[in-house]
Amino acid sequence: MFKNIHSNIISNNQYWSYLRQNMRDKYKRVLEKYIAPQAVDTIVNWIIDYGVHLKITEERTTKLGDFRPNQHLEKGHRITINYNLNQHAFLITLVHEMAHLKTWNLFKDKVKPHGAEWKSVYREMLLPFLSLNIFPDDIAPALIEYLENPAASSCSDMNLMRILMKYDQEPKILLEEIPSSSVFKLSSGRVFRKGSQRRKYFQCLEISSGKMYLINPLAEVEPVQHLA
Ligand SMILES: [Zn+2]
Repeated sequence: MFKNIHSNIISNNQYWSYLRQNMRDKYKRVLEKYIAPQAVDTIVNWIIDYGVHLKITEERTTKLGDFRPNQHLEKGHRITINYNLNQHAFLITLVHEMAHLKTWNLFKDKVKPHGAEWKSVYREMLLPFLSLNIFPDDIAPALIEYLENPAASSCSDMNLMRILMKYDQEPKILLEEIPSSSVFKLSSGRVFRKGSQRRKYFQCLEISSGKMYLINPLAEVEPVQHLA
């Protein structure tokens, strides 16, 4: 039977564009729940164009998100983001990880993860969102200042992080907010007494071991009342 190869190619193309559209719609529906509507199209385009497998995960206390290149992965580059970030922290973290991806595509492992190359890619990717009226009046200037020299994680910029945390639905109690000498518990269950501040961090005494530790002022704490 005579086979029309040409029409076969066209239907293949149509099939792929149908799949892409399907994926686009799926990501759009998911992302609308997590980020500002003005940002959704750009992010979805990046996900499709860069071949990202985006996974929204449980909260991890050690990180807000991460990126793994497609070297050993079947589904493409993988980006994970904690589900419980507020919409501004979610977008900023997602662009942070996307910048890792773009830096990886350009330089592979020849550059440092948060080196000058990543910083300039991150700046270039995040700046356009500042003109979309997404960020409130307190976040925007903190973000602009942060972008002058973006740090490894948005957590390590105390000023930006402190402002971002104000937008969390369940306000957390932070180490910097409780009085000196208070006894508190971290999410790991370890119990400490708050001491004095050294540069950024607080020196805290772990009750069970008697050892001193330096703890981030923005660590979420649970005050412990019954210990004197
Ligand atoms: Zn990073």
